[in-house]
Amino acid sequence: MRHATPTFAVILFLLLAAVIVQPLVAQEKQMSNGKEEATVPAWMKASCASLEQELAAKYGEGQRPRLQRGLQQAGEYWRAEDGDATMFAGFVRENFAGDQATLDTMFTRFERLMEQLDGHMLEINKEFRMQADLDAGPILPFDEVFAGYDPSAHVNDDFFGNKLAFVVLLNFPLTTLDERLTDGEHWTRRQWAEARLAERFSKRVPADVNLAIAQASAEAERYVAEYNVWMYHLVNGSGERLFPPKMRLLSHWNLRDEIKADYADSQNGLAKQQMIQLVMERIATQTIPAVVINNPGVDWNPVTNEVKPATVADADAPPTPTELAVNKPEADARYATLLKTYRAARMADPYSPTAPTLIARRFDEDREIPEQRVKAMLEQVVSSPQVPRVAKLIEQRLGRPLQPFDIWYNGFRAKSRYSEAQLDEIVAKRYPTPEAYQKDIPNMLVKLGFPKADAERIAANIVVDPARGSGHAMPSSMRQAKVRLRTRVDKTGMNYKGFNIAVHEMGHNVEQTLSLNDVDHYMLHGVPNTAFTEALAFVFQGNDLKLLGLEQDDPQAEALKTLNDFWGTYEIAGVALVDMSVWHWMYDHPDASPTELKEATLQIARGIWNKYYAPVFHQKDVVLLAVYSHMVDSFLYLPDYPMGHLIALQVEEQMRKAGNVGPEFERMAKFGSLAPDLWMKNAAGAPVGAEAMLNATERALKQMGS
Ligand SMILES: [Zn+2]
Repeated sequence: MRHATPTFAVILFLLLAAVIVQPLVAQEKQMSNGKEEATVPAWMKASCASLEQELAAKYGEGQRPRLQRGLQQAGEYWRAEDGDATMFAGFVRENFAGDQATLDTMFTRFERLMEQLDGHMLEINKEFRMQADLDAGPILPFDEVFAGYDPSAHVNDDFFGNKLAFVVLLNFPLTTLDERLTDGEHWTRRQWAEARLAERFSKRVPADVNLAIAQASAEAERYVAEYNVWMYHLVNGSGERLFPPKMRLLSHWNLRDEIKADYADSQNGLAKQQMIQLVMERIATQTIPAVVINNPGVDWNPVTNEVKPATVADADAPPTPTELAVNKPEADARYATLLKTYRAARMADPYSPTAPTLIARRFDEDREIPEQRVKAMLEQVVSSPQVPRVAKLIEQRLGRPLQPFDIWYNGFRAKSRYSEAQLDEIVAKRYPTPEAYQKDIPNMLVKLGFPKADAERIAANIVVDPARGSGHAMPSSMRQAKVRLRTRVDKTGMNYKGFNIAVHEMGHNVEQTLSLNDVDHYMLHGVPNTAFTEALAFVFQGNDLKLLGLEQDDPQAEALKTLNDFWGTYEIAGVALVDMSVWHWMYDHPDASPTELKEATLQIARGIWNKYYAPVFHQKDVVLLAVYSHMVDSFLYLPDYPMGHLIALQVEEQMRKAGNVGPEFERMAKFGSLAPDLWMKNAAGAPVGAEAMLNATERALKQMGS
């Protein structure tokens, strides 16, 4: 009995505690998903304070600011498993570079060795991918494993493990985007290079978090990749099938491209476009019947949403059993998938102190243009006075008022004097083999205005390989390795499409060569981000006829190209604004359900449409801007598209002003990967912005007599 009472009391206490504590635990766990702190050992603060005193006394007061910063940075990433206070102190005493000469030696060696590391990792990767990438016979199953292997996947973990990352964090500055933009303008090249070195170690994301992100990403990619609509099985009110048998379109890319292609169909084009718009809206609103996705076994009327077992068969594969022929909607799977990517991305937040949200990582690190500026630029385009004028021009060309799917209008095309067949013949004769193309690279570069000696030096760094696919450019990450131009050459020789792609990829190769071999610091190699790489490649691609010795003969060609770019930017800018708002909404509502996310996304999409599109389309509450599949699986990638258009136009405008591609290209490409605004100021005399595009559009409108 004497023991029973305390035992009973303990049990009672535990029961009560369970009742009281459980909600608290749950709440804490919830918070820890959102705002968890990575665990810094308790002794760290005191240890840093005493090391600062000790080493400032040893190296002089002048080193104190560097010491403070270095200790704070190294301390922030140090975990219990890295060692106790004694280990930390020993590490700091050994590795703090207390004078300029030691710091210079350290920086130079790190820079050299990082180049060797990156360079060799990429060479291994290139070799491992060779069978998959080149037109070199069948791919065996193990070849795919080689191709998928990334030898550098664990380098970051290893560098924290062996403490080389801590050497960098102890000695070189981690910077915020704000510092890079405000102070960076006055930094030396070396200061920029140090900032880039430190950035490599600005994250220490645990392996299980990376794995969770990769899994969410793979799941979302799978969801997107299998989202096909069987077009022959769309029926209208009169039971007619507008689309041909076997046509299977992936959402949203192929659906959008079919809308574009249907402008050429004078008979059924409009009806097809309207039907595709309806399908897209049902995808965004998730009223699409689950059973029609990727299933040729049912017929579907998108107007009434009625589903029936298919009365015609056009697929090689047996259709999904027809007892599923009910119009039960997709149950918000689209938004559940997006939510999973958000929840996975958020797990990395505590391990990324200089960019603590996915939104910050995208804008501050990947793009290096503040989100507010990107938003302002996109809004400048969608609300520009050029929009209604270009819209009117499209209405004139179509001979009818705009309909919402006309955001994908593609009729601004120059007429060519040459047919595709004629061009194929010219190209095949000139380039019967990859070797013939390789041999001609110096001549082509001279035609673009590169000085002869540079043309030969650059060409000597490019190896042309026969591609298995349509073609791509493979960079190198160390100066002793060459870059690769992969191009498709049939037995009958290269065709025009292949040539056009090869010229684009050659632009990448030339940029890759100059921005590595001619840049003063390895840590500054490259260009600020992919938009810049693409902008430079487009400059080459736009000159493909000139390289064949043919002249563009449509006097309106340039104006048409500008208007096409402008309308495309207007469309994708709205999509990007939706993507941005949706990610903010998810961060503001971390516990939202898929249905709540759907409602919010649709409201955002309608809001942006009503503000920037309804005035010229004269129709409200359209949800088309929410149909992009990248929104589901690409972690806030969409703003890259409109930014890419703006950057490309800025670069092209500068080339046009300079009147010569070669020397301008060299000058731009060897500036290196500083912040985008600094790069653009060097390249075109102004930070990244929408003015170049709006000015070019104004000029184009005048030229078209509008
Ligand atoms: Zn490209």
